[in-house]
Amino acid sequence: MSTLAARVLAAGAAALTLTLVGAGPALAATPTPAPTLGASPQQATPTERAAAEVRPAIVYVTEKFSAYVADETGTYFNNGNPYELTATCTGFGVNPDGYVATAGHCLDTYSPDGINIQATVTSAKANLDLVRGIKGHAEIGGFARWGIKVLQMSAEIGRKTNLPLYVHFGQLWGLPKSGANGEDADTILERVIPELRPGDILAHPFTRHPGGFVNREGEVHEVIQAALDRGLKVDVGHGSHFSYRLARKALDAGIVPNTLGADMHGYNTHVPAPPGTPAEHDDDEANPFAGQAKFSLTQAMSSMLALGLTLEQVVPMVTTNAAAMIGLLGEIGTLRPGSTADVSVLADERGRFILSDNEKNQVVAERLLQPVFCLRAGQHYDANATILPEAVAA
Ligand SMILES: [Zn+2]
Repeated sequence: MSTLAARVLAAGAAALTLTLVGAGPALAATPTPAPTLGASPQQATPTERAAAEVRPAIVYVTEKFSAYVADETGTYFNNGNPYELTATCTGFGVNPDGYVATAGHCLDTYSPDGINIQATVTSAKANLDLVRGIKGHAEIGGFARWGIKVLQMSAEIGRKTNLPLYVHFGQLWGLPKSGANGEDADTILERVIPELRPGDILAHPFTRHPGGFVNREGEVHEVIQAALDRGLKVDVGHGSHFSYRLARKALDAGIVPNTLGADMHGYNTHVPAPPGTPAEHDDDEANPFAGQAKFSLTQAMSSMLALGLTLEQVVPMVTTNAAAMIGLLGEIGTLRPGSTADVSVLADERGRFILSDNEKNQVVAERLLQPVFCLRAGQHYDANATILPEAVAA
């Protein structure tokens, strides 16, 4: 089609859905970044106008277009039928004019063509107060398209910035139409680990998706223990793919995570829908983050306790180890006099509570950590967010 002079005769933005996720007071109070787009509000695109409806937040935007396309002779492509296009992005932080300040997922950040190593290194080094690490995806959807190339480029950025590389494992994206192209999810870990340095992070050890720490035979990959001995770290990165079944296997094999990221984000966290939001979307089943089990950081802590770790193991995962991972040991995640107040107060409830994952596994927890309030740099915040899971008695 590129050789034909094609013009779009009619284009209509048909549907916009926005899900507002957990804009906490801390985020809402952050100074609004300057608009990054040149257009004035009068020229706002449908995405920007929809974004203007929400306060500063994390947004999930799906745009659908119907467009008729014809060549210069007036002949319509597609037998005269419209093309249907869907674009999905996440944006972080929407200013009062409705501009999404950053919208990384709208850019091509997945293929090697979308990565500029030198530009990334330069901007990371110029913003080391904000940029604490680099994230790369090592999963079969990307490997089937580009092999290990993207991961090697991410590792190079990590080396050149001297920042830790946080590597996602477990299938995230669907395979291309051409299939796996000779790639095997179970070989990804052993090929990626040699690219990594001490301090780099293996994420999502307990994922139920192919390509995690447990292979399709149900065994924990042998290469992991050697990687940990070499100084690599493990982050739970709980998310919607966390599996109690696989967590038990990995923990039984002696894999104790260093940090306990909750990995809550706009795709896997449910909030009461604002009035006028459709109850479901026609592409819901294509959502790789689908699942209904609510979770939170404190519930993830309770899960680790229920799986046999001690409170003395779990607390550093969400405090000192996490601070060390982002280069802020001694500044945050500690109760030391003189450091910034960064205090979570939790209730340690005893009883019998059911915890569930999105594989429908259940475990019974005899203690449940529940958030009560936190103090952050002099501000008090009650733990009253609607996204928090409720305790379920066994
Ligand atoms: Zn991830």
